[in-house]
Amino acid sequence: MSRVYNFSAGPAVLPEEVLKEAAEEMLDYRGCGMSVMEMSHRSKMFEGIIQEAEADLRDLLNIPDNYKVLFLQGGASQQFAMIPMNLMKNRVADYIVTGQWAKKAWQEAQKYGKANKIASSEDKTFSYIPDCSDLPISPDADYVYICENNTIYGTKFKELPNTKGKTLVADVSSCFLSEPVDVSKYGILYGGVQKNIGPAGMVISIIREDLITEDVLPGTPTMLTFKTHADAGSLYNTPNSYCIYICGKVFKWLKKMGGLSAIKERNEQKAKILYDFLDESSLFKGTVVPKDRSLMNVPFVTGNPDMDAKFVKEAKDAGFENLKGHRSVGGMRASIYNAMPAEGVKALVDFMRTFEKENG
Ligand SMILES: *Cc1c(COP(=O)(O)O)cnc(C)c1O
Repeated sequence: MSRVYNFSAGPAVLPEEVLKEAAEEMLDYRGCGMSVMEMSHRSKMFEGIIQEAEADLRDLLNIPDNYKVLFLQGGASQQFAMIPMNLMKNRVADYIVTGQWAKKAWQEAQKYGKANKIASSEDKTFSYIPDCSDLPISPDADYVYICENNTIYGTKFKELPNTKGKTLVADVSSCFLSEPVDVSKYGILYGGVQKNIGPAGMVISIIREDLITEDVLPGTPTMLTFKTHADAGSLYNTPNSYCIYICGKVFKWLKKMGGLSAIKERNEQKAKILYDFLDESSLFKGTVVPKDRSLMNVPFVTGNPDMDAKFVKEAKDAGFENLKGHRSVGGMRASIYNAMPAEGVKALVDFMRTFEKENG
């Protein structure tokens, strides 16, 4: 068996320990004679799995008691619609557009009401985070929306926007559990788990209880109403049970690693190795304004598309997978999520240094 260094933006690298454990439990989960994939989501065994996963997540993020944790399907993209359907009482919301994912969410919200774009960084290919300290927040906005870490462009809000008292909703897909957060500052924070937590096919939405009501937009399907899932403890219908099980193992792994403060420190050290190299390199350069750089997604270019392609190919041959940038921006992108070991980043930088000598 040989494993590559996988820099994919998602689905992405998972902790090897977790994969090994899952492999060991595949045929016979803890003496019950079947795999987690095969068991009823109403069984005692699975009840234990989902409850433990939620408890560990609450512990990791220090989630206050007045927040619900929902394990939902439809990915992060489904939240783009679910959020306005459930929250747009006045049919007004303010969106800060810092990349393709925020833009998609903003466009989706326009189906349900007035979705105002109150700030954007599109003028410079989303390479920075706009100043959000004094934005023209709509007096009747039901919420203010951000994408906290922009997976494609590699920017991150280092400070949350001043929402002037309005509910903050954040897509944290690609920075989920990468550092401690103060959950009480958000009305909703949600993320597709396939970036930094688990397998594809699930989104975790952490929602303040007062935002979970029956007062949703007319025509909202039962399955897209937060209250349906909150009342049923994420078991209204069959959930993505195997995904919940793997996520639960990742939560335990994160706790074992020392929790989110320790993970943040580790992530900062890892990102620094790559950013320091990009800052001194004569061939490669980062594309993001330094103060807004993400710890998770690191885009870079040589400035020459042919050279970029040569690099991606040679890197792949050397065991560094998925370094090609998003199809909308080109260049390269190294996603260095929680489960990417520091050795992977060091090995990548060594490879880049050699490539630079040979091609500079
Ligand atoms: C990947 C991604 C999405 C889309 O996730 P799906 O689960 O595929 O719908 C949304 N937002 C961000 C920030 C992402 O990185």
